[in-house]
Amino acid sequence: MDRWSELIVVGSGLAGMSAALEASLSGIKTVVFSMPSYKGYWYNVPEVPFYSGGNKKVSGAEFLGDMRRRAEAGGAIFIEASVEEIRKTAREDLAIVTGGKGIWESRFVIIASGLIREGHGLVPGELELFGRGVYYFFPDLLPDVHGKHVAVFGKNERAANAAIFLSRRAASVYFVIPGLKIDADEKLVREVESKKNISLIYSSSLRRFNGTSSLTSVTILEGGSEKELAVSTAVVCAQNLIPSISYAKGVVATDELGRVLVGEDFSTSNPSIFAAGDVLCGEIQHPAVSMAQGVIAALGVKRALANTRAS
Ligand SMILES: Cc1cc2nc3c(=O)[nH]c(=O)nc-3n(C[C@H](O)[C@H](O)[C@H](O)COP(=O)(O)OP(=O)(O)OC[C@H]3O[C@@H](n4cnc5c(N)ncnc54)[C@H](O)[C@@H]3O)c2cc1C
Repeated sequence: MDRWSELIVVGSGLAGMSAALEASLSGIKTVVFSMPSYKGYWYNVPEVPFYSGGNKKVSGAEFLGDMRRRAEAGGAIFIEASVEEIRKTAREDLAIVTGGKGIWESRFVIIASGLIREGHGLVPGELELFGRGVYYFFPDLLPDVHGKHVAVFGKNERAANAAIFLSRRAASVYFVIPGLKIDADEKLVREVESKKNISLIYSSSLRRFNGTSSLTSVTILEGGSEKELAVSTAVVCAQNLIPSISYAKGVVATDELGRVLVGEDFSTSNPSIFAAGDVLCGEIQHPAVSMAQGVIAALGVKRALANTRAS
């Protein structure tokens, strides 16, 4: 396979997919990389709320799949491999190093790799089972847990709210708290404690998520020994979501919080790299905003390519 392209897009969520679609339909030779184990937030949405297809219900996966098919028809190539590094080459191009140690070269890169839980916070099975039993707490994205056994992990107000929310439908909720107390106001803590179907498990930590095609249980560490909880849904209430840009360290400028700095056209400090979507940690993390940013970034690449072709 030819390992040179005009544009490499890192990420195939809404931002990356929109960029890839716009670029490929503009005739730009485009390759898209995504993590094999994790397909982004939108992929797991059971029903796209803003899709105007009459009465037809469309899931996030179908929505993204349709965009992908159209991008492929425009010539885009999709590869499931994590990007581990972006390097400068001796020429003007950028070298993209992927998980399989493949090296790809490209004139431009669009970073659209979203947010991810901080590396050290991730546990085995989390990315693999994300959307298939493992969720972060956003009520709209959760499946119906009616009559099911579920687990909630966390010790903050968000975790307490998640436990209460789930207890309304679930048969039972294991609330696993990594500490001696819940960091929330007293009224909320009392409400959690009053729910008959919530079991509070203090001073325990999450070890791994188990299951092959979907979540079947979680393993926790309680009192020094491992314990398995049979649950079909587990909700992680972490606050440590960070931009997934470890592969671009030192290649683009970031602010003190590690957010990629971009201009109005979503170009970064590196003239060959643009960035779009949740990875920017902007004020608004919204599907339509991510899509628009992806398109604007692709148009920026199109303009820059036209300039290099003309010169
Ligand atoms: C926690 C959270 C919950 C949300 N919940 C809702 C909601 O309930 N309702 C709603 O309307 N909107 C929600 N949103 C907003 C909306 O889903 C996002 O704005 C939008 O989907 C972001 O798209 P994205 O393409 O920027 O990132 P993502 O969809 O996260 O896509 C990231 C892509 O990058 C890839 N990637 C990451 N790292 C690498 C790497 N190193 N190499 C290769 N590929 C990589 C991943 O595989 C994935 O394809 C939520 C956002 C967040 C962060």
